[in-house]
Amino acid sequence: QRVLLTGANGFVGSHVLEQLLSRGFSVRAVIRSQSKAAQVLADFPTAGSALDFGIVPDITTPGAFDEVVKSTPPFDTVIHTASPFLYRVISSNLEFLEPAVKGTSEILKSIKAHAPTVKRVVLTSSCAAVVDFAANPTASPQKIYTEEDWSPLTWDDALVGNQNAGYQASKKFAEKAAWDFVEKEKPNFDLVTLTPPMIYGPLRHSITSVKQLNESNARIYNLFVNSSKDAELPHDGMPVYTDVRDIAEAHIRAATIPEASGHRFVICEGQVSSQEISNLLRKNIPELEARTPLGIPGGNKLDVNQYNCSSKLAQKLLGLTFRSKEETFVDLAKQLLEIEKKE
Ligand code: NDP
Repeated sequence: QRVLLTGANGFVGSHVLEQLLSRGFSVRAVIRSQSKAAQVLADFPTAGSALDFGIVPDITTPGAFDEVVKSTPPFDTVIHTASPFLYRVISSNLEFLEPAVKGTSEILKSIKAHAPTVKRVVLTSSCAAVVDFAANPTASPQKIYTEEDWSPLTWDDALVGNQNAGYQASKKFAEKAAWDFVEKEKPNFDLVTLTPPMIYGPLRHSITSVKQLNESNARIYNLFVNSSKDAELPHDGMPVYTDVRDIAEAHIRAATIPEASGHRFVICEGQVSSQEISNLLRKNIPELEARTPLGIPGGNKLDVNQYNCSSKLAQKLLGLTFRSKEETFVDLAKQLLEIEKKE
């Protein structure tokens, strides 16, 4: 099987690449520049002829993917993970919206026009496209989000809102654009979308400084690894999560299991509280004694009874299982300390 993978140098994309290569797939990794290709190659030195590269400097340009989707042997599957998820100084939320939405539409158009052998496209969406963040998070009965739910954010909300609104809407409108494309254009391929909440876990790609951390892991570094014993525990604003290795596995299953066809899957391991993360880190990593907020040890509960997301459909159709919280947060924190030491 031959796979085209976008965002292959990112946090999630590099884990997907790892799992594809380890299972014998042949992969073309799509990245923005030659120097990023060189970095990916350095991270996968034994890939050999199973890995080649396609460079797309700007995924919003019409026809951006026309050349990279052409290949001999041709592609069977496309996995599109590339989308902006870095909060930094931006001039407008269009910097989230345009690459997310146009990037998705452009790749689907190019596949339809130039890669007729592609039978499946997997899109990395997000719980940002599912959850209504303006709803009362502590509503009773507890809200359990599923594949039926869509964020109510509008394009205008996104333009006037903060960066969270910009990111959340970018994921919603990109995913909508993909479903609309399949419905209207009736291409040769089917679509599977994955909607994970916050994704945490060790990095597969190399970085030389914690300043280069991806957005979700930077949250763990700043609030739990580089904080202090007496700091206040962060509010459980984002109570649901998934391990990056499990979301990578979900991508492979979404790409290969016939019954996944046409489905949207919530991929969520469940809730995790700030106190739980702190307890796990303090128990397993003595070095963090003075650096991780103590909170009220013993307690594990969320500060309020918050919403959850259900992965029942993914567990049933994809047979997904999830690893422990200890593995996710302890593996990540140990790696963050190593990265710090190399700085
Ligand atoms: P990273 O920032 O680590 O990776 C993002 C990837 O997308 C990189 O390859 C990046 O390339 C590429 N990308 C970003 N902006 C653009 C752009 N304007 N044009 C072309 N390529 C771009 O983030 P993650 O790995 O965490 O995110 C991967 C996917 O997972 C995204 O779709 C994200 O929305 C989704 N997701 C992530 C979650 C998380 O908690 N991490 C949660 C839910 C969904 P470059 O290095 O060149 O910028």
